[in-house]
Parts: sequence; structure tokens; C-alpha cells
Amino acid sequence: MRAFIQDIRAGKVVSGASTITMQLARMLEPEKRTFLNKFKEMFRALQLERKFSKEQILEMYFNLLPYGGNVEGIKAASMIFLHRQPINLSSAEIATLLIIPNNPNRYRLGIDNNIIEMERNRWLQRFKKAGLFSSIEISQALTEPLDARRAGLPHIAHHLCNRLFAKFKNTPYIYTYIDFNTQRRTQQIIADYINKLKLWNINNAAAIVIRNRDHSVVAYAGSADFNDALHQGQVDGVNAIRSPGSALKPFMYAMAMDEGLVTPKTILYDVPCNFSGYKPQDYDRMYRGKVTVEDALLNSLNVPAVKMLNEMDLNSYLAMLEKGGCNSLKKQEKNLGLSLVLGGCGIRLYELTGLYTALACKGQYEPASFIKNEPSCKPIRLFSEDASFMISHILTEMMRYDVPVNLNDAVHFPKIAWKTGTSYGHHDGWCVGYDDRYTVGVWTGNFNDDQSPELNGSACAVPLMAQIFTTLSVYNEFNWLSFPKGLGTRWVCEETGKIPDTWCTNQVMDYYIPGVSSSAKCNHLEMVYTNPEGNISYCRSCLPKSGYCTKLYPNYPPEMLSYFNLYHIPYQKIPEHNPLCPRIFKDKEMAIQSPVNGMEYILMKNDSHSIMLKCDAGNDVSFIYWYVNDKFFGKSKPETPLFFTPSAGEVKVSCTDDKGRTSHVKIFVKEI
Ligand SMILES: [Zn+2]
Ligand SMILES: [Zn+2]
Repeated sequence: MRAFIQDIRAGKVVSGASTITMQLARMLEPEKRTFLNKFKEMFRALQLERKFSKEQILEMYFNLLPYGGNVEGIKAASMIFLHRQPINLSSAEIATLLIIPNNPNRYRLGIDNNIIEMERNRWLQRFKKAGLFSSIEISQALTEPLDARRAGLPHIAHHLCNRLFAKFKNTPYIYTYIDFNTQRRTQQIIADYINKLKLWNINNAAAIVIRNRDHSVVAYAGSADFNDALHQGQVDGVNAIRSPGSALKPFMYAMAMDEGLVTPKTILYDVPCNFSGYKPQDYDRMYRGKVTVEDALLNSLNVPAVKMLNEMDLNSYLAMLEKGGCNSLKKQEKNLGLSLVLGGCGIRLYELTGLYTALACKGQYEPASFIKNEPSCKPIRLFSEDASFMISHILTEMMRYDVPVNLNDAVHFPKIAWKTGTSYGHHDGWCVGYDDRYTVGVWTGNFNDDQSPELNGSACAVPLMAQIFTTLSVYNEFNWLSFPKGLGTRWVCEETGKIPDTWCTNQVMDYYIPGVSSSAKCNHLEMVYTNPEGNISYCRSCLPKSGYCTKLYPNYPPEMLSYFNLYHIPYQKIPEHNPLCPRIFKDKEMAIQSPVNGMEYILMKNDSHSIMLKCDAGNDVSFIYWYVNDKFFGKSKPETPLFFTPSAGEVKVSCTDDKGRTSHVKIFVKEI
């Protein structure tokens, strides 16, 4: 009322006389200072007083105080001009921030520091008189120089902030699990590291660190430098969908172990294969013949992995990956095939790293948590503790192809389990490492999808992952991997990884899951009846009453024999079967390798192109008889293919071996 009368007398606004609440009302709805607006402010103030407590009103007031330009609120001013949190301010600094809003246009922090200091000291004296602070405190504050200058706000975990802000737009405070030091170190390591990779035209990297205990994300670096516009630094590499290469293989083998199909020493065949026209190859385009599951995983062999998945159910594998948080795969389901296990799909770094936490947590998966106070999820079992142990045990091995050649700090390489991935065409290099405490996922590559011949998981991602891991725990224990109670050990034949038979002399110790792992006996040799000269073999139907011998012959699968023939690797062949034998054999199916069943073949007119006739036959087969459209075409040895030029249209190709086993395929031939 006093101000009102004064203002009426003067004919203009000369006195403010607003309460804090009224000032807040004006800051919330800035209007011209007129009498009408004054009444509106008073009305708003009454509303505010009804709805909020005095503390809340004061807090809102502090948050809106003007500090010149676009700076609003005590906290912003404290961070921008004094570079620290309000709680860490000195009495002199508090006094400074309190007086600026009186006239933010006159007291410009960083520019008018001298005037502000004088004004501050005047107020400090008033505080002293009012007895607000002790005289010692005031005299200390009076001598404190004012060191205010404008600087940018501190920025950390840019990409995560953007991501969370997009999701929780209207939440004033978001509490993450980011560990300030880990985050800062991770960002620094990536920035330094990528400088070296730039020579190879690899300009970006992303990393995420998950603490396994509570699945919290403690570090999140989306790119090497957020402000590097030239290399799309604002793109979030942790959240980008990229091809994972071989990084999904361990989960398929874990599943195969739980289905009882394999154990670490089970022998797989790394030989040329054809899945309806899809011919996977290893990174070095070589075939190794026999390999253990262990070696196939450590050396990331493609053929055994695709063959294994072909024996299992692609959809169950996919369902397991999706249960393990790979939500990106859901949209791609229709286009996924056997190549899924080689990275023929797209996945995000945080999804992949989350999946690996299941291996670190004894087979149980929980989604990574980015913010505190989220409703917790129930752990989901992806595979057994036993399978998880066997896979982790393999992945801690250091005798493997992807130990980087230039790993200058091999001695300090953390004792962890890890796996790399390189996408097709060298676009992405991945590595995920874990022990019982942390899981660290790393991606290297270019956001504009440039490839680089040097870009691969081993050379690019492993050293970065190892560096980040080392900062987390300098001395991690090697025995973090605890042996599960249910897991068993047993001797198996080295030739097959199966339970030894009487003739299996080379045996090795292997893990197995009692009651689950296959207990099939080893059949790496088979007993064969032959004549004394050893050039005719007999079966039970044609075995003579006397004058025969028994002999052990290697029992290779037909695909392995084809491999031996292809590379001219000698092997012991079972003698030709008794030509007088009346029996028709039905075991050991033969598989026609070429032509491929159901495929369309295109032949050029007037050109002498031909199609190869080839099949995988058993060790006891000496001759194959080929038929085209049910007409005899020719006879060949299993190791030497025949060639034929078909006519256009549907063509049936069949073959019979000297034991009466048959097989056929149908193809479509187009002439252009
Ligand atoms: Zn054996
Ligand atoms: Zn016979």
C-alpha cells in the first residue's frame, strides 16, 4: 500500500515493495510494470503461497535469479562464473552472488569485478552490523579477491546426457550410476587412443563399462570427441546399430553346451560347406579339418560355427539373444539366417555388452541400468552356470589368434575373459572383456561407415578394452572364475571328444554337464572284416565262414573325406566292398554337394559351361554312379568329380554308390 501511494503521487513506479513471492511471480510471468500487472502479480503470489511452502518458493526464487545475459539461477551462476557447486562457495562468493540480482545490468560478473567487489564489501559490513556472520568470517571475506570469469559449463558423458534427456524430458534431476573418475578416464583414454588409429583412417570409438554386481552403467563414452564435427562426434556409438562380427559366437556355443551337443573338447569339422548356396569361409580362407570347440571359439572359425547353428534351431538362438536384451534384432528377424552367428545382423554396443554380463553373472541376464531408482528387473537365465563357466574359461585363454601383435603391455593384460568381433568388409572392430566385477564393451570404426583394411577387433578394439579395464582394477584375481558345483570332468578321446572306446589311446581331460552332455561312445575307428590280402571288405551278410581278418579303419564323416580328397591329404581307405555282396546299405547317407538342391543355374547359350557332380561319400565307397534325369551319365571315384552340361528346365540329378545308397537333387537351369 505504501508503494502504491508513493507511486500514485509520483505518477510512475518509484518503489518496488514486492515480497519474494511477488518477485517470483514476476520472474515466472515477466510483464510490463503497470498497476494492473501489479495486481495480477499479487494474485499470482497468493496462489503460489497457497500451493507451495516458503522453502519451495525460496528455492524457485533462487533458481530464477537473473545474473546477466542468459544466466539464470544461483547454481548456474556459481558453475559458470565461479566454476564450482554452490555448496563449495566461500562466504565472500555467496555474498557476491546475492547482490548481483539487485542490478544484473550494472554488476556484470567477469567484467565489472572491481565495482562488484566494492559493493560486496559494503554488504559484508552490513551483514557484520546485523550480526549475520562472525567478525572473523567477515574480515576474511573482506580480503578475498573476486576471481570471477565466464567459462562453459562442465560437460561429461555428453551422449548419455542427451540420451537420458530425450527419454526423461520433464524430470529436473536424473541420477545416473556414472562414476565421475571412471567416466573421465574412459573418455580420456579413448581420445588419446583414437589419435593413434587416425593414421589408419579409423576415427572413432565408443565404450561402455557395466558393473556386474548391480548391472549399473558406470562409464558411457559415445565417441572419441563430442565436439569433433568432422568425424560426427555427436553420434552415439554406444547406441548405434552395427554388425557385431563374431562377437555373438560364444552365446551359440553356450546354448549348444546346454543342449548337450558339445563340450569344450568336442571335435568339429572345419571343411568346405554349402548351405543352399551359402558357403561360409574363415577369415584366412583356410580350412583346418578337425578342431575342438575350444579352438573353434578362440580362433573364431566361421565354418564350424555355421555348421553348429545349422544343427541347432536358429529361432531358439535368436530368441535367446532377444531375451538377453538384443532388442534391435526383433526388427531384423525376417532377414536373419545362419550368418547371424557371424554378425549378419545389426546390434548396439550396450546390448552386446549387456549380453556378456550374463556370462560374467553365471548365465543370468539383467538389463543394464542407466539411472538410479528404476524398478528392478528379475534376472533371466540365458544358459546354465556350467555352460557359462566353460565358455568363460575358454575365453580367458591367451593362446589365440586375436591377441594383438602390437600389444606392448602383454604383461599387464588384465586377467579377464574376452572376445573380439570384426564386421564383414572391415567396417567395425569390437571387443568385450569381463571378469566377475566389470564388463567393458568397446567399438572402433567410422560413423560415416568408411572401412579400413586395418580395422579389426584384435588390433583396434582389444588394446583399448584392455586399457580401460586396467584402470578399473589394477590387480584383478585370476581365480575370479569359480568352478560350478554341478560341473563334472571326464576323460574323452582326443580324436572326437567323445567317451573313449577300447581303441582310443589318446585321451584328454574335458568338462561336461552330468545328465546333459552327450555320453556317446567314440567311433573314431571302426572294425572292418577284410580278406587276408586286405583288398576286399566284407559285411555280416557276405562274411565268409573262414579266411577273413579284422582290422581297424578310421571312421571319418563323408565331408571330412571330401576335404582330404580336395587337399590331397592321404588317409587310410577301407578296401572295396565284396562285389558279390547281396545286401543294400542304408546307413551313412551320402550328400550331393554339387549341384545344390533347389538352386537355379544360369548357363550362357553357345558356351561350354558345365556343372560339377560331386558328393560326400563314406570311407567304404569306391565308386559313385551318376544319373541325369534318371539316365545313366557316368561313373567316378568319390574324390574325382564329373562335369555335365544340362539342358534348360528342371533337371534331376541322382547318384548311387557301390553299396546301393542313393541320393538325388533337383535344379532349375536357365539359358540366356
Ligand atoms: Zn576315439
Ligand atoms: Zn557285404
